Amino acid sequence: MPRTASKNLHVLIVGAGTSGLLIAQGLKKASIPFTIFEHESSSTYQSRPREWGMTLHWGSSHLASCLPPHLLARLNEAYADPTQSADATTGLPVFNGETGEQIMEMGAQGPCRVSRRKMRNLFSEGINVRYGMEMVGAEVRGDGRVEVVFGDGTRVLGDVLVGCDGAKSKVRESVVGVEDAGLTDVPISMFNFPYKFEAGLAVRVRGLNPLFSMSIHPESGTMFWLSIQDILGDDPATWTFQILLTFPDATLPPSTDLSTQAARHALFQSRAATYAEPWRSVGLALSPSTPIPLDRASYWSRAAAWDNRSGRMTLCGDAAHPLTPHRGQGLNLALQDAEAYVAAMKSVVDGKGLKEAVDGYDKMVLERGVREMGVSLKQTLDIHDWGTVMESPMAKLGMRRAEE
Ligand SMILES: Cc1cc2nc3c(=O)[nH]c(=O)nc-3n(C[C@H](O)[C@H](O)[C@H](O)COP(=O)(O)OP(=O)(O)OC[C@H]3O[C@@H](n4cnc5c(N)ncnc54)[C@H](O)[C@@H]3O)c2cc1C
Repeated sequence: MPRTASKNLHVLIVGAGTSGLLIAQGLKKASIPFTIFEHESSSTYQSRPREWGMTLHWGSSHLASCLPPHLLARLNEAYADPTQSADATTGLPVFNGETGEQIMEMGAQGPCRVSRRKMRNLFSEGINVRYGMEMVGAEVRGDGRVEVVFGDGTRVLGDVLVGCDGAKSKVRESVVGVEDAGLTDVPISMFNFPYKFEAGLAVRVRGLNPLFSMSIHPESGTMFWLSIQDILGDDPATWTFQILLTFPDATLPPSTDLSTQAARHALFQSRAATYAEPWRSVGLALSPSTPIPLDRASYWSRAAAWDNRSGRMTLCGDAAHPLTPHRGQGLNLALQDAEAYVAAMKSVVDGKGLKEAVDGYDKMVLERGVREMGVSLKQTLDIHDWGTVMESPMAKLGMRRAEE
């Protein structure tokens, strides 16, 4: 006889990123038992070479129901600049990269830049994360319980599973199959890395805007992003910035091979050299020893209603809707999903059927995820072509929710 989850609900969360941790905090607040697993070890979790900042804007309205008040009151500790005031800026300034003229502001609701690492650290306070646990598979057994399998052979049983394991989600593979879970590449490549400038250049970059700026080159369609990533003190030479350069593959000569660091540096510097100040100086400042990772923009084009096994297995955040990053929505949607998943579990404890609760959650997550993947894709493609920049979603919608 299948066990009734509403009578005895133990939630398994895979992935201790922002969405998984916010669910853990919300379940803890609601006294619903859970276990949260994270692939990284407790030390690599702190020292990941790939870290970046994210713009938190409308998503901040989804924190209060899950976070305990003492953590919510410390949200500024997750900011790239913990001293940032709530009204530091009204939106993201967008520039013509060739002339340096501002062409628009991408409006946003109370935007702030948060550090992924600092946000994880804040949200994991008081949560017992089981580190070093790489989920490799999951299924619902005959008795109705979910069994999650980890890379070291450990098997863990729970009543429900929520996959918060990011864009390349293994839980998504278990739910819809490896082929249907696959990502679709967009022909836009990305260099995304942190960097410190000498004090004068750091001040000039922040002079564009205290948080962030986007600059688009009319000739090459290159998008040059600069934002503040980590501030530890007053000395501008110690400030860490995030540099994100994204460009259409079609603008590279067919023989281009970006597999070497030397080739990436040469491309970065040649693109920066076509820019006005201060972007040109940023290109000149880059040390040849700085590692430049290469990524491809991608999203889940095959997203469709998934079989949640009567509510026992579902997805949240990037696992449910991996997005291209140019509209700054992924974190915000992930927080909204996390709040909604906690609300669904609370409703189950209060007597609602598990299937009904998770069906309702899935429907919302899929609808808004598919909508935003489409809007973000349009944004990614439009801003890399000067002819369509002013028709891109940022011109009309800013960073607001797509449904608005
Ligand atoms: C360059 C760039 C810029 C961005 N800028 C913004 C922005 O400005 N604003 C915004 O809203 N969003 C932005 N995003 C998107 C944002 O980073 C993501 O949407 C957000 O981090 C998603 O959170 P998450 O909790 O779903 O996943 P993640 O934060 O990716 O967390 C997933 C966790 O799962 C763990 N994990 C993965 N696989 C396994 C496994 N098999 N077993 C166990 N654990 C596993 C990972 O180690 C990780 O800790 C940006 C993304 C990029 C790439």
